Amino acid sequence: MGAGEILLRTLSARAKIQGSTMKRLRLVLGDQLNARHSWFRETDADTYYLIAELKQETGYVRHHVQKICAFFAAMQHFAQALTEAGHQVIHLTLDETSQHADLPALLRALVTEHDIEQLEYQRPDEWRLMQQLRDFDPGIAMREVDTEHFMLPFDDIFKQFKPGKASRMEAFYRRMRKRYGYLMQGDEPIGERWNFDSDNRQKLKPADIQKVPEPLVFSTDVSDILERLERHQVDHFGEAQTQLIWPTRRSEALDLLEFFCSRQLPLFGRFQDAMTTQTQHKWSLYHSRLSFAINAKMISPQQVIERAIAEWQQRPDEIDLAQIEGFVRQILGWREFIRAIYWVNQPEYGTLNALDAHNHLPSYFWSGETKMRCMQQSISQSLEYSYAHHIQRLMVTGNFSLIAQLDPNQVDAWYLGIYIDALEWVEQPNTRGMVLFADNGIVASKPYAASGAYINRMSDYCKGCYYKVTEQTGERGCPFNSLYWGFMLKHRDRLAANPRLGMLYKNWDKRDEQSQQAVLDRARWCIDNLEAL
Ligand code: FAD
Ligand code: SF4
Repeated sequence: MGAGEILLRTLSARAKIQGSTMKRLRLVLGDQLNARHSWFRETDADTYYLIAELKQETGYVRHHVQKICAFFAAMQHFAQALTEAGHQVIHLTLDETSQHADLPALLRALVTEHDIEQLEYQRPDEWRLMQQLRDFDPGIAMREVDTEHFMLPFDDIFKQFKPGKASRMEAFYRRMRKRYGYLMQGDEPIGERWNFDSDNRQKLKPADIQKVPEPLVFSTDVSDILERLERHQVDHFGEAQTQLIWPTRRSEALDLLEFFCSRQLPLFGRFQDAMTTQTQHKWSLYHSRLSFAINAKMISPQQVIERAIAEWQQRPDEIDLAQIEGFVRQILGWREFIRAIYWVNQPEYGTLNALDAHNHLPSYFWSGETKMRCMQQSISQSLEYSYAHHIQRLMVTGNFSLIAQLDPNQVDAWYLGIYIDALEWVEQPNTRGMVLFADNGIVASKPYAASGAYINRMSDYCKGCYYKVTEQTGERGCPFNSLYWGFMLKHRDRLAANPRLGMLYKNWDKRDEQSQQAVLDRARWCIDNLEAL
């Protein structure tokens, strides 16, 4: 059933409900596709659900085309599912909404057209949208409800976190484990440890690479959506696919979860940080690729965690505790923590630039055309699939952005645009906080700066790179090596007091002045010639 048909069904349904007591319009945003929300427990002929493609949502930043297609396709499938379940749905495409300047203008028009008496919405996860809706006066009653998605209730964020104050994920994660009883024996963690990081994080050897499963992909025809984007001149970048590989139905999200549990969970933690050029179509390694489905709320974090724990309990000989703990920590810990940091620090967080970084994003962020093989691989993969795994985002493109001192606004916009799962509440603290340290340590106790040695340890990128990872200076010296020292010394006053960094500066001081100067000269050259790297 197409969008137009859903609309027609809705309008004829409206004709039948003339004279009813109160007509409600409920807005469902593109990342609120939660079929288990209490809104949908009962059908009601007086309640309309609005699901609308909006130009404002395609244009607040320049997006990867697959990201726009994935959200629009998932919205369309959600509208169909609601209609089939007996709800009154108004699903509007860009063709029907582009005459309205923005979301409030569309809502105002629909309120009048359908004689709506109450407007309801789920609290948006992005500050920008929440402000827009809270500032909007439709002239009728308005009601905001919870999304019923996250594990930490919204109000608890403000009890547990303070604006501008450093918080540590590990302490939060332990509280959440106790609160939910996941992987717990009474008040103690199963296995007597909270964290199994040291058992995980191995490099992939050639024999390991052969065993990596091919990712489960889907094929949703999005040619209609691509045509609409063309028709409405929506600016975008990245590789378009007419058959979209991302899950855009709840059933597909559940299939992906099953695939992850059966094929990837057994080695998830072990190879969580590994990167390789050798996998070709196995580009996501042991990562779940569930982020889009979870962020669009097609499935809930609780469901994902509980399904993965059940799998671990059923296969104790194949899935060790380190793997399941590593996975639970990502969702119960990092995802919930990052959201809390976002909300408690809005709206200031998006303006922070503690390290005073102002360099422009080089053009290879948009093309992948650079001699740095790690950057070329990570960016090209992102352009092809709208996806890179965490360590590619953190330790390759992110690390480069940090040590090359790129402008946080430009870096934020790039991450927010390029990734399939990028929504500001999760992208911004990861980028500005974890990667760029622009929040001066609210998220991370120290910057995740690293030289080429880290990338070489966790990947095979350096083999065959134009640059030499063992060299710090000279035309072929790996740019990460000199930029790292340039960055660490520029911020020495701020960072030297950190006990985890003291030794590093001592080692630098032991080097002779000439070699120090050569490294710093190379770093200066790299900064002045970022485009040429
Ligand atoms: P897996 O490796 O399979 O992990 C499982 C799940 O854990 C993910 O689906 C995700 O829901 C959660 N998770 C893991 N790490 C994090 C984290 N640091 N923050 C929040 N959730 C986490 N994630 C997004 O969902 N949207 C973003 O816009 C986003 N931007 C990022 C930007 C930067 C600079 C960095 C360093 C990380 C960012 N992340 C973001 C976090 C993480 O990289 C992605 O969640 C992950 O790569 C998604 O792939 P996956 O589903 O295969 O994850
Ligand atoms: Fe990246 Fe340096 Fe390794 Fe090349 S040598 S892949 S630039 S870390």
